[in-house]
Amino acid sequence: MAKCNFCEKSAVYVNPISRLAYCRKHFIEYFERRVRRTMRKYNMLSENEHIVVATSGGKDSISLLHILVKLSRKNPKWRITAVLVDEGIKGYRERTVENLVNYAEARGVSYVIASFREYIGMTLDEIVEEGHRKGLPYMPCSYCGVFRRYVINQVAHKVGATVIATAHNMDDIVQTYLMNIFSNSWDRVSALTPVRNGEVSGFIKRIKPFYEVPEKESALYAILNNLVKPEFIQCPYVKYNVRFTIRKMLNELEDKYPGIKYGLLRSLQVITPILKGQVESRDRYNCLICGEPSSQRVCKACLYKIQLGLLSAEKVKFILNKARSDKALASLLKHYNNSGSISNLSELREE
Ligand code: SF4
Repeated sequence: MAKCNFCEKSAVYVNPISRLAYCRKHFIEYFERRVRRTMRKYNMLSENEHIVVATSGGKDSISLLHILVKLSRKNPKWRITAVLVDEGIKGYRERTVENLVNYAEARGVSYVIASFREYIGMTLDEIVEEGHRKGLPYMPCSYCGVFRRYVINQVAHKVGATVIATAHNMDDIVQTYLMNIFSNSWDRVSALTPVRNGEVSGFIKRIKPFYEVPEKESALYAILNNLVKPEFIQCPYVKYNVRFTIRKMLNELEDKYPGIKYGLLRSLQVITPILKGQVESRDRYNCLICGEPSSQRVCKACLYKIQLGLLSAEKVKFILNKARSDKALASLLKHYNNSGSISNLSELREE
């Protein structure tokens, strides 16, 4: 075992690029320094903030919560609320909910657990079943990502947050970068910045303090601080997610050619300012139904809710009436009318 470059202790981590070795203490210091530097570099937080930390109870988000809670001791005007979205995935989410609750209660951190059942009307397991029954073409992860963002926004508004911090690390960012290149979604690429400020009302600033941090390091930080149990729990829907194939491919490439993930991140940092002004901003509307910032007149969460029969008949009638005099809206609804799911009013619930 290598020795730490900064003391006599055994190393727990060797940075594959700098080749510097770190013992537990020096790794934790290095990691926290790096996150603080990222936050300063991109001007993420000001003196007075109510930070909603979007957490899954997994290693990355608990690490982020831990660092922000530590930093809040030196920033007394910060308020922190951890928000965990319980999608309702049987046998999976219960375990990470326990991690968050244990962490937050031991340290007196405010937390909210917001479920899909409460905010959307069904658990993800039920949504997947219903989508299948209706012949809708979406994968579980599509519903999951869209509804999770929707729920986080709703809770952030409710608690009066000024900023939403997410634990997306460098690996997540470069995976998303590649996925968006593959689908020719340059508006999404342009949104992959460490800080996002919206152009429409109701947009809560979003920050990614782990933007420059590799996943290996945030996972190690969680383990060295005993923030999560060193166990491997995987979502049962992971097999449907293209991200995991890309993740595997990138990890294999990184093992062979250390530094390729950093290379991709640098490429993203070069391309995003060029894209600014070339592609339309992603959040340029307020959804006509829920009012949340959206890239379309009706946000994807509300469109999914309509298709799944989770929006009240009154709201659907309102939007269909509006579509009569609005061609762009009518064509959007038409596009989402898979298997007649929008026009079938008889299946819609009364408010
Ligand atoms: Fe959600 Fe898909 Fe992740 Fe499971 S794998 S938690 S369904 S995004």
